[in-house]
Amino acid sequence: MTDITDHLAKIVERVARASERAHSPKNVTIVAVSKAQPAHAIASAFHAGQRHFGESYVQEAAQKMAELAALPITWHFIGRIQANKTRAVAERFHWVHTVDRAEIAARLNAQRPEHAPPLNVLIQVNQAREPQKAGVEPSGVTALARSILSLPRLELRGLMTVPPAGETHWFTELAELAAQLGREGIELDTLSMGMSMDFEAAIAAGSNCVRIGTAIFGERQPRRA
Ligand SMILES: *Cc1c(COP(=O)(O)O)cnc(C)c1O
Repeated sequence: MTDITDHLAKIVERVARASERAHSPKNVTIVAVSKAQPAHAIASAFHAGQRHFGESYVQEAAQKMAELAALPITWHFIGRIQANKTRAVAERFHWVHTVDRAEIAARLNAQRPEHAPPLNVLIQVNQAREPQKAGVEPSGVTALARSILSLPRLELRGLMTVPPAGETHWFTELAELAAQLGREGIELDTLSMGMSMDFEAAIAAGSNCVRIGTAIFGERQPRRA
């Protein structure tokens, strides 16, 4: 077994355990975060059964997608979205986890190809209002959700957060925010929360989509500028 196969099997097992222990057990999607990892690492994980992969940089992802075009991978964009990169995201990805303003949503909607199904969208919430992180403030989520719901080429699926390390209470708060939206008539089915260090806490709080990089692929190479 390669390291990746071995790590992946352990993560799948830990996710399943955490899900069984959760208050209301859910099917949890594992997004293997492959940023800064080579295409052959993705292929190894794919051959071990992994289907969902997350990338943070459009150009880097496009290169790997071209190399791996023969594999039926579901690609998730989890990086910061710049307005001048929305077309590539709309054309190449199946999911976007990081929509945080109406302008970006409108561009993705306009640029989603006709032949493709609607793009699955999550709203990134900056719960702790950290200035260095993307995301809409909790008070702005309802308005952004309504704006996304008006766009036919986007399918609003849920919320995403990257809280400060170690502050797992934000997971519970994101689940509460999603429940609040449900009471306002905005039905969501996906909570993208939890990474290598905290995915078990996130699942306990109701996550059904965890984004795991290092625990599957090992340390990332530093990114070249
Ligand atoms: C890199 C990244 C991850 C994965 O982080 P690990 O700690 O390597 O599991 C998850 N989510 C986002 C948004 C990321 O940028």
